[in-house]
Amino acid sequence: MQTNDIYQTLGVSPAVLAFGESVLSTLSDRFAAIDANAELGQAKVLAAMQKNRVAAAHFAATTGYGYDDMGRDTLERVYADVFHTEAALVRPQLVCGTHALAVALGANLLPGDELLAVSGKPYDTLEEVIGIRPSPCSLAEYGVRYRQVDLLADGSFDLSGIRAAVNERTKLAHIQRSKGYQTRPTLSVAQIGEAIALLKSINPDIVVMVDNCYGEFVESIEPSDVGADMTVGSLIKNPGGGLAPIGGYIVGTRACVDRCAYRLSAPGLGQEVGANLGLLPALYQGFFLAPTVTAAALRGAVFAAAAYEKLGFRVVPAAAEERHDVIQAIELGSERAMCAFCEGIQRAAPVDSFATPVPAPMPGYDAPVIMAAGAFVQGSSIELSADGPVREPYAVYYQGGLTWPHAKLGVLLSLQKMLDAGLIAF
Ligand SMILES: *Cc1c(COP(=O)(O)O)cnc(C)c1O
Repeated sequence: MQTNDIYQTLGVSPAVLAFGESVLSTLSDRFAAIDANAELGQAKVLAAMQKNRVAAAHFAATTGYGYDDMGRDTLERVYADVFHTEAALVRPQLVCGTHALAVALGANLLPGDELLAVSGKPYDTLEEVIGIRPSPCSLAEYGVRYRQVDLLADGSFDLSGIRAAVNERTKLAHIQRSKGYQTRPTLSVAQIGEAIALLKSINPDIVVMVDNCYGEFVESIEPSDVGADMTVGSLIKNPGGGLAPIGGYIVGTRACVDRCAYRLSAPGLGQEVGANLGLLPALYQGFFLAPTVTAAALRGAVFAAAAYEKLGFRVVPAAAEERHDVIQAIELGSERAMCAFCEGIQRAAPVDSFATPVPAPMPGYDAPVIMAAGAFVQGSSIELSADGPVREPYAVYYQGGLTWPHAKLGVLLSLQKMLDAGLIAF
């Protein structure tokens, strides 16, 4: 009861609380499945840390060139073991997910090569990396061609379209697991495996890169388990466990990862340089926490989906659907509703709870974006956050929550702001 008293001082009314509890009473089986998967993820990470004999000495800071950085090299082996790959590049010099993806693409595509996106238009910030929207230093400027095969109306791969699009120039195929700022379904690892098998059957030399952002630890397997040559993501999402203050990862074949390392530092230097600057404790501990943090975020996403679906909104994925990433899209139908929802998420934050989010232009995005986040790490979207471009269908993308109780409060306060604005009724 004490908890509910505090909820009221935090701004959650008894009506919203009662609605929330009625929704939650239907979700125990879903939560049990999420927790069982977290247990598997935790075991994978622990086994990799033990196998690689992670020790306190690995947490020491290095500076300068960072030659013989045992901590960095061991962390990369831990990632490679968890993802079952030959090699991994995991470091703060990969400044974000977009950078890791840009390095993976730029390192493995040469002038005249064709990049084929087989899951439709890639994430917004990649449009400038590829040159879909003209940009200095884009792949297009360097003579890399681009082709795209959209997903079918039901969100599955267009296998015959892919077969028709592959040609002798096709060097690298791009697959994006998560929906990004779209309301299509997220792809399952099994579906991704089928597309990879098709691509490799047409030409085994095609390099397949999967943008794995938001997908890590959501399922029992990763794209690297179903044949992806490179699996790429951000450390301020799932695998950083909320503790990594910066970073990205690329796991995959030795050949691909070596090229990425040469692109990231310099030809000849590669993976041997790159001081860890004292960030390794957070990168190790964050990866250790990542499976349970991901589970907390998933519980929040399932709760949000169930609550908003019950109120009549279209949610992607639907409340009962299986999940392949931590993102929950909720089509709210108006700018006003997006603002109310985001205000609720902001009010629940440990940091900047007093701020009110408003839509604003953002580099890399073609519509004003509203973002609610009160994060310890700037822009970290494994921390509780909600955002979305203010355009049809006025969908917010809800994600994160380092703990389940925080995610729960966020969803309750979003409902409260929607109720206060007259946008919902129970
Ligand atoms: C977040 C995200 C990115 C970009 O990652 P940043 O760390 O924001 O640069 C790329 N692709 C997808 C699907 C994402 O969700």
